[in-house]
Amino acid sequence: MMPPWCFVCHKTLRDVEGDRPIDHFTYVYFADYHSEPGVEGSGVGAEWFCAEHAALGEAREHMPYRTALDEIRAATK
Ligand SMILES: [Zn+2]
Repeated sequence: MMPPWCFVCHKTLRDVEGDRPIDHFTYVYFADYHSEPGVEGSGVGAEWFCAEHAALGEAREHMPYRTALDEIRAATK
């Protein structure tokens, strides 16, 4: 798994205040998510979102990765 890095605003753990910055991020798995069995961090089709943008990802979990991200890009331009 990649370290948290918001797909929309590019916020990382270092940009977040508080004791548990990881709580500020959500890893969203899209409909066509897959990974190599047993290979850590090999997943394709998932993306990090910060608390501010998590809803954009979560609302599109049922969509294929590319479609979802194209929509989010269009919605946040
Ligand atoms: Zn964000």
